[in-house]
Amino acid sequence: MGRIRTVTREELHKMTQHIIIGGGPAATNAVETIRSIDGGQSQITLISDEPAHSRMALPYWLAGNIPEQHTHTGDDAYFERLKVETRFGQRVASVDPAGRVVKLAGGDTLSFDNLLIATGASPVQPPISGTDLPGVQPMWSLEHTRRVLEAAAGMESPRVVLVGAGFIGFIVLNAMFKRGWTLAVVEREAQILPRMLDSDAARIVQSWLDSQGVAVHAGTSVQEISAAADGSKIVRLENGEEIAADIVIIATGIQANLDLIAGAGIETDEAILVNDQMQTNFAHVYAAGDVAQGPVKFSDRREVHAIQPTAVDHGRVAGANMAGQEVHYSGSLLMNVVDVCGLQSASFGNWDDASAEATTISNPAGRVYRKLLWTGDQLTGAIFCGRANDMGMLTDVGMVKGILQTQTPLGPWKEYLQENPFDIRRAYIAAGVAQKLVSTTLLGRPSQPRGYRFQDAQPELPANPAHAVYVGTKS
Ligand SMILES: Cc1cc2nc3c(=O)[nH]c(=O)nc-3n(C[C@H](O)[C@H](O)[C@H](O)COP(=O)(O)OP(=O)(O)OC[C@H]3O[C@@H](n4cnc5c(N)ncnc54)[C@H](O)[C@@H]3O)c2cc1C
Repeated sequence: MGRIRTVTREELHKMTQHIIIGGGPAATNAVETIRSIDGGQSQITLISDEPAHSRMALPYWLAGNIPEQHTHTGDDAYFERLKVETRFGQRVASVDPAGRVVKLAGGDTLSFDNLLIATGASPVQPPISGTDLPGVQPMWSLEHTRRVLEAAAGMESPRVVLVGAGFIGFIVLNAMFKRGWTLAVVEREAQILPRMLDSDAARIVQSWLDSQGVAVHAGTSVQEISAAADGSKIVRLENGEEIAADIVIIATGIQANLDLIAGAGIETDEAILVNDQMQTNFAHVYAAGDVAQGPVKFSDRREVHAIQPTAVDHGRVAGANMAGQEVHYSGSLLMNVVDVCGLQSASFGNWDDASAEATTISNPAGRVYRKLLWTGDQLTGAIFCGRANDMGMLTDVGMVKGILQTQTPLGPWKEYLQENPFDIRRAYIAAGVAQKLVSTTLLGRPSQPRGYRFQDAQPELPANPAHAVYVGTKS
C-alpha cells in the first residue's frame, strides 16, 4: 500500500493559480498580501479593463494638484517584481465557479484555484432626458476625468451643475471649487449629503456653500437637460427653475459591477455577499471592495460601504485567506470624510441611529457641529463639521475614528465626553484606545513597510510608529 504524503505549504503555494479581476485598491492589496505570505511562489493573474489606479486620486488630478500618472498605483516594474501576470485592457465576460474558469471578452478561457472578484461599482444612470448630450457625464473613472478636463479647457470658469449631493459628488465638487469654476448643485432630497449628515449638520454645510458662492437647489430634481444653441446646456428643474451649464456631472449613486457573474450561482443582495474571510458561497471564490457586501461594525447586517478603506481591508483579508492564512475580518467601519469647499464634514458608524443616546454641540454661526452617538458606554456613531483650522478638529476626527474602530467601552469617560465633547484626546488616551490601535492589526501580524509602487523607489525617511507619542502615557 502506498504511503500518503502530506503536501507542504510551500508545495501548495507553488500549485495554486489565483485569478484576480479588477485593478483598484481591493485587487492590488490582495496581490500584495498574497505575495507577503507566499514569497512569490503561486501564480497570480490580474485582469482589469482599466490600468491599476486609485479612483480616490482622480479629484486631485481634476483639481490640477497632480498629473494623471500619479493616479496610477503600479507600473510594469512593480507587477514584475510581484511576479504577477497582468492583463490590462481586458474584460472578464463570465465566471464559472464550479468549473473554476473565467472567460474573457476576447474569448480566452483561464482556469483558477482561487478567484477574487474585485470589479468595483459603476455610476447609475438616472432616467433623465439629455444625459447623453456631450458634456453631460458621471465623474467616476480616468476617462471621465479626462473628458471633464477637455470640456473645461480654454474656459476661465466653466459653469458646472452637479446632479446629486452625495459623498462622491461633493469630493468632485471640491476639486472643481479649487479650480475656481462656477458651481451649482441639485439634490432631490430635502437636504444635501442625505446619506452622510443629519439635517442640522446639512443646514450648516448648505449655508457654508451659500457663503462660498455655490448655488444649492435641494428638494427638487432635474426634469430634463437640453442643448442650447451655443452648445451649452440648460438644466431644467421640477420647481421650474433653469440653470445654464457648460458641464453637467451626474452623481446620483453607484451599483456593483455584477454582470460577469450573471447565472453563476454566486449569492448576491445589493452586491456579492461575503463572509468574514471574504468568501462567497463558493469557498474558493472571494469578493472584495465596492462589489462586496460584507461584515460591518456595530451591526449584524452585511453592507456595501463603497469606500477606499473598506476596499483595502477587504483586499488584504481576501489575499491572506487565498494564500492559506486563515484571517477573520472584524468588519468595516462606515466613514465618510469630505472637505466641502473648505468646511470639513465627516460621519462615522451608526451616525443616523435614532435609538442611540446623542450628545450634540451645534454652533451654526461658527460652522461647528458635533454629534456623538452612544449605545451604553460605547460610542457607536459620530458626525463632525468644522473648519480644518479650528482647534483640534481634524485630530478629534481621527481620534473618534479610533474609538469607533476599536469599539472600546469608555466606562466613566463617556460622561466626561458628554460634558467635554471638545476634549476627546483625554478620553482617547485614558480609555486605552491608542494602545489598542497599535496592538491590533488587520492580519494579526505587525504591519510591514510597503515601499513605493513606481521604479522601485524607497521612502527617504523611516516610518514613525503611529501614535507612539500617546502610547504609554499614564491615565
Ligand atoms: C472621484 C472619486 C473620489 C473618491 N474619493 C474617495 C475618498 O475620498 N475616500 C474614499 O474612501 N473613497 C473614495 N472613493 C471611492 C473609492 O474610490 C472606491 O470605494 C474604491 O475605488 C473601490 O475600490 P475597488 O477596488 O473595490 O473598485 P475599483 O476601484 O472600482 O476597481 C475595480 C476595477 O475593476 C475593473 N473591472 C470591472 N469589471 C471588470 C471586468 N468584468 N473585467 C475586468 N475588469 C473589470 C474596473 O474597470 C475597475 O478598474 C472615490 C471614488 C471616486 C470615483
